Amino acid sequence: MENKVRELKDLMEKARHVVVLTGAGMDTESNIPDFRGKDGLWRNLDPRLLASVDTFEENYPLFREFYATRLKLLETRQPHRGHYILAELEEKGLIQAIATQNVSRLHHLAGSKHVYELHGNIRTFRCHYCNEPAEPEEFFDNRNCSHCGQPGLRPNVTLFGESLPTDAWNNTMTEVLQSDLLIVIGTSLEVSPVNQIPRFAKGKTVYINDEIAAKGYHFDLVIQGKAKKVLEQLEQLI
Ligand code: NAD
Repeated sequence: MENKVRELKDLMEKARHVVVLTGAGMDTESNIPDFRGKDGLWRNLDPRLLASVDTFEENYPLFREFYATRLKLLETRQPHRGHYILAELEEKGLIQAIATQNVSRLHHLAGSKHVYELHGNIRTFRCHYCNEPAEPEEFFDNRNCSHCGQPGLRPNVTLFGESLPTDAWNNTMTEVLQSDLLIVIGTSLEVSPVNQIPRFAKGKTVYINDEIAAKGYHFDLVIQGKAKKVLEQLEQLI
């Protein structure tokens, strides 16, 4: 792995515009389970089914409870060293932007500045029906929307069946199209449309993941390993 991390360091030092794309595997070492493993299940239900417009519309109490549980878990979670290293590399001018599928806000908490949240964030709330913002307590107390009175408060995440936030998507595409290096970390690349992003990259591409799952992609460099360890090794070299 060390030689490959050295190769990554060389690519980063040669590049002018580096974009990082992260997925759930970036957060697992902060003790937030990803969505594929059995730890990602909640009451034996697949989070990919729960985090959907269908569940919201057909079973709001289950939807609400699922997110309230996830939020409680997240309250105690902190960025790990890998998140901080990405923020430091941005500070040094070696990374220009991070696009993330994660709704945890851990990149922000670690100090990264240019972060595009492609699936929204779980820490702010609104009404599904009238779109007015809501306070976290209103969601946790299971209150109806204080503006339209409907039982539809929800976190600002993108559910399966919804479009991605336009600004986050457009900004990400602008960054990726001008990048000469895209580093993809901790994502199975199974969820559309984010899994199309590496195909738009015109420069070099790197894939860092603990299992080499992403089939049908060509990356110039593949590093099989844990995100935190790879980034710690990178930090030693830079
Ligand atoms: P994923 O779970 O599909 O893939 C995570 C990948 O990271 C896996 O390939 C895994 O092997 C790898 N990985 C795990 N730990 C790692 C580590 N420490 N280091 C390196 N690699 C590691 O997650 P994804 O690709 O991000 O796609 C799923 C997306 O679906 C999510 O980003 C999310 O936005 C969405 N989703 C959201 C919810 C929700 O509650 N809002 C629920 C389900 C899915």
